[in-house]
Amino acid sequence: MIIRRRTKPLVLQKYDATVPRLRPNFPQLQEVQREQAVRTKGFEGEKAVDYHIDFLAAEATILHDVCLTVMGKSFQIDTLVNTPHAIFPVESKNYSGAITFDTVLRQMIRDDGRKETGFNYPVTQADLQKFKLQMWLQERNFPDIPIYPFIAISDPATIIKVKGDDQELAKTVAHGAHIPGMILAKNREYAEKHAKIDDRKIGNAILRECREFDIDIIKKHNIKASDLMPGVACLVCGVVGMKRIHGNWECGRCFNRSKTAHHKTIEDYLLVVKPWITNTDCMQFLNIKSRSAATRILQSSGLIYEKKYKRWVKG
Ligand SMILES: [Zn+2]
Repeated sequence: MIIRRRTKPLVLQKYDATVPRLRPNFPQLQEVQREQAVRTKGFEGEKAVDYHIDFLAAEATILHDVCLTVMGKSFQIDTLVNTPHAIFPVESKNYSGAITFDTVLRQMIRDDGRKETGFNYPVTQADLQKFKLQMWLQERNFPDIPIYPFIAISDPATIIKVKGDDQELAKTVAHGAHIPGMILAKNREYAEKHAKIDDRKIGNAILRECREFDIDIIKKHNIKASDLMPGVACLVCGVVGMKRIHGNWECGRCFNRSKTAHHKTIEDYLLVVKPWITNTDCMQFLNIKSRSAATRILQSSGLIYEKKYKRWVKG
């Protein structure tokens, strides 16, 4: 059973809300766009791997996008498959071109046809996550649970090369489509040696403590309020700065009209800038001159008014 399903990660939602609003001359624009592209590709890859892993739903407890805290620090696991005999963390990797795992120097090199780029060695990352998950489970009185991590290469067109011990690497790394079969085979091995575990109970314990992974991207990229262009974003073409004409928002580029386009803009503000909005913030960010129009918009936005602070927050 799948007890936690993947949604668009909070951090990617923040990038998607921020990038269209950054001024064209913002110094770190390229860096922010690159980060957005990497996270988008990662999310696409995770969904492609889910497609294969989810076939195990009948015989395992599956959690997508797990974020837990151990010793005050959070760690993330793309997918967790709990079978009746072991836990299988699966990390998704989405790369174009060819990737080479060097098992001796423990490094990974991607060759996209233009240049070679080095990356953190995914096997080391997976081992580290295994260790953290082990600690987390021990702290909650689930000792001695076998954990076996896998690395799923999400794009079937990615060529996997190995420099060194290919047999050893093939025990852990494979294209997404092979991972369910590898999990079942490993589970059968554990079934012979280990006692049964309560995969559902462990899954529920993890689910209870799962947090949404978050980063303050405004702080990370040193984005100032003046770097974000105000205005309602067109829901059709994405351009920022729809004009308010007789209670309608009209796009100057594609001429799309909408009565409710401001909802998304207010949501973006709460997501990226701060978790509340005042009447003045609303006038500035939506580019409206009338205070009473801003009040009407906020009143009909489904937000809750905090009288003490004169601000609106999500319910
Ligand atoms: Zn438009």
